[in-house]
Amino acid sequence: MTNLAQTPLSDRLRSLVDTVQHNERTLRRFQNVELRLIGAQDFPSFLDTLFSHLPQEFALAGVTLWLDDRAPMLLELLEPKALDALGRSGLKTSREGGLAAQGLCGDGRPWLGRGVELDEALTRAFFGNADAPASAILLPLAAGNTVSGYLCLGSDDPSRFAEGMGTDILERFASIVTASLDNVAHRERLKQLGMTDSLTGLANRRYFDERLREEIMRAVRYGVPVSCLFIDIDSFKRINDTYGHQTGDRALAIVAACVRQQVRLGDTVARYGGEEFAALLQGDRADALTVAERVRLAVERLELQDDHGERIALTVSIGVAARTVSGTPAEAATLGLAMMEEADRAMYQAKRNGRNRIEALVKMPDESAQR
Ligand code: GH3
Ligand code: MG
Ligand code: MG
Repeated sequence: MTNLAQTPLSDRLRSLVDTVQHNERTLRRFQNVELRLIGAQDFPSFLDTLFSHLPQEFALAGVTLWLDDRAPMLLELLEPKALDALGRSGLKTSREGGLAAQGLCGDGRPWLGRGVELDEALTRAFFGNADAPASAILLPLAAGNTVSGYLCLGSDDPSRFAEGMGTDILERFASIVTASLDNVAHRERLKQLGMTDSLTGLANRRYFDERLREEIMRAVRYGVPVSCLFIDIDSFKRINDTYGHQTGDRALAIVAACVRQQVRLGDTVARYGGEEFAALLQGDRADALTVAERVRLAVERLELQDDHGERIALTVSIGVAARTVSGTPAEAATLGLAMMEEADRAMYQAKRNGRNRIEALVKMPDESAQR
């Protein structure tokens, strides 16, 4: 290697410029990944950044993330069903993985070295049946004294991560991963809290109104029909009065689940008010009437019992409305609300006509919007 002091100034300058540019590029690449992590709107895009973007930017053989599914903010995020839906093989939660990683990073410091040095338990927990990478760094994700997980970066190069290497940049990166994880968990929680009804697990009215706008826009754009059901439990006040509020709550939950079961997966069902539900369906009025009758029958057949095992009769009255609309997207919001209003009026007609029945208004006041 040539001594830098003996090389001509221009060469020295070039070498310095190269180094600066190289560092700048590295930092900018880190910054890119970090900004993506910080800005992640949901857990899947957070994971995408770690599992796809990070290895690409830094030519890593693989990235594995172990998370503690008992950490308070991670509980819901990592429940088995949610994990299945995510389907990321790089995301691990096994108890053994956490214990093995804790053993290596006992002092809260990163571990680095060759993959072959890793013990069997950790290799299995982090890499499954695949071979451990040639070299790896294991970074604790810690805020204060609490470790919520471990991030493992693997390389095909056996000397890429070796003991004695400086880890400042990577430790800083780990702290940003930790903060972003906390952030994304909060975001997901808020989303859950803001859009779902906790008693029934259905979407709430706010979410329904948003979906209604979207569906009407879609109906306008593609000239397809859209319809809705307005479902109200009959004489619900009497159920509360006779059996108590708690049993009333159970009735609400069982009816909600029943309605959800009777519609298609892509249809939206929401708890619209106290003992009122709304369903947004793809299809015309005839389709909606069929679904409504299915719902009515299914509710009538529900087996709900009071505290003494006595069967509680449950029925619903349903109003149906449908639209096939040609208009501008700007009119979508008004059209949606008008359709819901119509279904609401039809529901009241069902009440007047004796309950446990379905009604659709024969003539619509805004017939002009109808084809
Ligand atoms: P109708 O057949 O005309 O619909 O009669 P109704 O008794 O169902 O209608 P009404 O509007 O008079 O009463 C609705 C009741 O629903 C009153 C309210 O206390 C009850 N309710 C609303 N939300 C809840 C809830 O979350 N839990 C329970 N247990 N009851 C609720
Ligand atoms: Mg009501
Ligand atoms: Mg009612």
